[in-house]
Amino acid sequence: MSSNITITQTKSSRLANLDFHNISFGKTFSDHMFVADYDKGQWMNPRIVPFESFLIHPSAMSLHYGQAIFEGMKASKNKDGKACLFRPEKHAHRINESARRMSMPEIPEALFLSGLRELVALDSGWIPPQEGSALYIRPFMFATDGSFGVRPSEKYTFIIFTGPVGPYYSEPVKLKAETTYVRAVPGGTGEAKAAGNYAGALLPTELAKKEGFDQVMWLDGHEFKYVQEVGTMNIFFVIDGKVVTPATDGAILKGITRATILEVLKDKGVAVEERKLDVHELIDAHKNGLLQEAWGAGTAAVISPIASITFKDYVITLPSADTFAIGNEMKDYINGLRSGRVADTHGWVEVVN
Ligand SMILES: *Cc1c(COP(=O)(O)O)cnc(C)c1O
Repeated sequence: MSSNITITQTKSSRLANLDFHNISFGKTFSDHMFVADYDKGQWMNPRIVPFESFLIHPSAMSLHYGQAIFEGMKASKNKDGKACLFRPEKHAHRINESARRMSMPEIPEALFLSGLRELVALDSGWIPPQEGSALYIRPFMFATDGSFGVRPSEKYTFIIFTGPVGPYYSEPVKLKAETTYVRAVPGGTGEAKAAGNYAGALLPTELAKKEGFDQVMWLDGHEFKYVQEVGTMNIFFVIDGKVVTPATDGAILKGITRATILEVLKDKGVAVEERKLDVHELIDAHKNGLLQEAWGAGTAAVISPIASITFKDYVITLPSADTFAIGNEMKDYINGLRSGRVADTHGWVEVVN
């Protein structure tokens, strides 16, 4: 572990106030955060400090021109009570892909990983014990130059904070196939985990909710017929026994859960197809009784089952989510890897010491 990280421990831990069975989602933060600054072409002053607010220049470029990227990952406890990370190098790699797209500096993987490990080790008491719950980890980087000239910032801050989350029991969701707004187009920023992608998705999602849907299923921005993602997750279907997910085309975020599921299914000899998927093909499969499963896949919920998809006037109703043999198996498998119940034959789980 890198020893150049200075650690200032909190004098008043909030851990004793935490009730693991009653965690308010997204509003509970652990005691510490990791911070590093970038200036004059270098990362400097890596440190762990108490979780707290900080000052920011009103003209910080991230606030105006949107150089802000993030990651989402989770730490869990294995059966020996040890803190575990899942494929952390994949996240270290992906934040740098996002950084390149947004003209931000790369974070050396060793800096990302040592900051992450030290932080999770220090706040491991905040990892909820129950399988399916986790310590959510939010690494992010943003531009801090105080200047309103449009150009890439020269100064950045990289932070990792964490917060415990309870298990997700996501009810099957009703989707609106979005035919007015787009999330991303090839050549745009959809492959980057960039803050602005999320802002642009809020309005269509709010409008869909007003119409009684839970989430939006994104379609391509040219013909509004090729399936991209669901909300902020990748999307999978089982059609006549084959697993189908849209191929990454520059507009789809390359999910680590998506990649994991594809590898696990290929290992098991299950037929998987990464390709263009026309929503009319889903409608035909549904009419012929061949559409068996549909679910979202992402770090937070792992698998989020889909109840229905409405494309214009046509409603595709999925079978009951408890019949989703492959989706449920993938959720059980990934949660089992994280808790140590399933043998980690791929070397995906890293124990933090
Ligand atoms: C983060 C994200 C995902 C899921 O990625 P994971 O690495 O599996 O968590 C999918 N789509 C979008 C748009 C995302 O931002």
